[in-house]
Amino acid sequence: MNIAELKKNIKDKKISPSEILDIYFKKAYVVNKDTNCFISITEDYTRKRLQNSKIESELSFIPGVIKDNINIKGTITTAGSRILENYKSPYTATVVEKLGNFSLIGKGNLDAFAFGSSTENSGFGVTKNPLDTSKVPGGSSGGVAAAVVSGVSLFGIGTDTGGSVRQPASFCGLVGLKPTYGLCSRFGLIAMGSSFDVPGIIATNVSDTALVLNSIAGFDKKDSTSINIEKKDYTKLKDDSKLKVGILKMPKDGVSTEIAKAFDDSVKLFSKLNIDLVEIDFKYISYSLAIYYILVPAEISANMSRYDGIRFGFHPDKNFESISDFYKDARSKFEDEVKRRVMIGTYTLSQGYYDAYYNKATQIRNLIKNEFKEVFKDIDFLISPTTPTLPFNIGEKTKDPLSMYLSDLFTVPANLVGYPAISIPNKKIDNLYSGLQIMGRPFEEDRLLSLSYLIENQLWK
Ligand code: GLN
Repeated sequence: MNIAELKKNIKDKKISPSEILDIYFKKAYVVNKDTNCFISITEDYTRKRLQNSKIESELSFIPGVIKDNINIKGTITTAGSRILENYKSPYTATVVEKLGNFSLIGKGNLDAFAFGSSTENSGFGVTKNPLDTSKVPGGSSGGVAAAVVSGVSLFGIGTDTGGSVRQPASFCGLVGLKPTYGLCSRFGLIAMGSSFDVPGIIATNVSDTALVLNSIAGFDKKDSTSINIEKKDYTKLKDDSKLKVGILKMPKDGVSTEIAKAFDDSVKLFSKLNIDLVEIDFKYISYSLAIYYILVPAEISANMSRYDGIRFGFHPDKNFESISDFYKDARSKFEDEVKRRVMIGTYTLSQGYYDAYYNKATQIRNLIKNEFKEVFKDIDFLISPTTPTLPFNIGEKTKDPLSMYLSDLFTVPANLVGYPAISIPNKKIDNLYSGLQIMGRPFEEDRLLSLSYLIENQLWK
C-alpha cells in the first residue's frame, strides 16, 4: 500500500489509527528479529503520543521510521554509537516536527554517527538486507531502508552526507532523495560533516517521496544554512517538454560489469523519450572521492569533539589521575571507524599538513562547484548509476576501508556541490537491485521528481 492509499483508508474510516499501530508494531518486532533494522521500536512512545490525536497533517498516522541520528524529544537517540547509548533527546529535529502526527514505528539502525556504507559499523549490530539476508542493506541509513522495504514503514527519514540515503535506497530497491543543501533543516540532526549533511527521504515510490518532501521542506530559522525560498508543491508534475540530460562518462575502473550494463540499458531506454542526451566528461569530478575523504573527516573531527564525557557522551563513573586519562576512558566507547575518521581529520587539519590536504581539498571542491555550474547551464539533469556495484556480502569489505569508501563513487559529488539527487530502482539483476541516480539543479526538486515519476511509470514499465 502506498501513502495515498493508506491516507484514503484512514479518512474513509476503513482502518483506525490504533489498528495501524497494532499491525505495524506487530510486524516491526518480527522484521527486527530477522534484520536488526531498528535500534529502538518506539511502541510506548508512539501509542502515548497519538492518543486522542486527529487527522491534522499530510502524514497523520502514516507509519514512518527515523534514522537514529535524528533527535526526537523523549526518545533515546544513539547515532548508532555506544557512546550515546543512553542519550535522551532534549528536543525534536525540525524535519520530524514538520512530519506532524505520523506513526513513529522505530529509530533506524545506522553506521555509528553515519560513517559507513553498509550499516556494519553500528555499535548495535549489523542490519541485514531483507531482500537477501546475506547482503548488506547499504548505509549508513541501512536500518531505515530495511524497515521500508520490509513494509514496516511507508517512508523513512535518513541523512545523506555522501550517499547515505541514495545508496541504501538503491541496495533495497527503493527511492532515495537527497534534497538540495539548505532546502530541509538540519536542526536536530546529529552532525557528521556539517557542510555536506542533509536530511533525506526513503520511500517505495516517487509519489510518496514527493508527498514527504512537501512536509519536510522549508525555511527554519534554527538552521543558519537553511534557505528561504518560495514553497512548492512537489506532488504536482511538471511538464518539461524539451529536456537535455547529461550522461556521466563512466570512470575506467571501479564499476562492475553488471552495473555498467544495467546503466547502458537504461540510457538506451531514455533515448525513447523526447530528450536530448549528451555524454559529459567532467575534468575534476574524478577527484571527488579523494577530497570527500579529506574534507568530511576534517569536519567530523571538529564535530566529534563534543563527545568528551562532560558535555555529551559516556561519562565514566570513577576517579582518574588526569584529565587525559578521563578522556581516554570516556572516548574508548567510540567505534573503530569513528576513531579512524577523527584521526584522519585531525591529521589533515594539523598545522604541518593543513595546506597540503585541507586547503588543497577545499580549492578542488571549489573547482568542482564551478564546473557543475558551467555544465548545468547546458543540461537539466545528469544521470549515472547510484552505486558502482550491486549489494555486497556482509563482511566482504569490513577489513578494507578503502574498498568500502569506493561505494560512494557516484554519490559524493552531489554533496560536494550541494545539488539535489535521487536514486530510483533500475533493473533487477540476479534478484538484486541496481539504482539509477539523477542529479538536478539546486532547488529544482519539482522537476527532478517529475522526471523520476515519468521514468518509474512509463519507461520502466
Ligand atoms: N558512506 C559515506 C561515508 O561513509 C557517506 C556517509 C553518509 O552519507 N552519511 O562517509
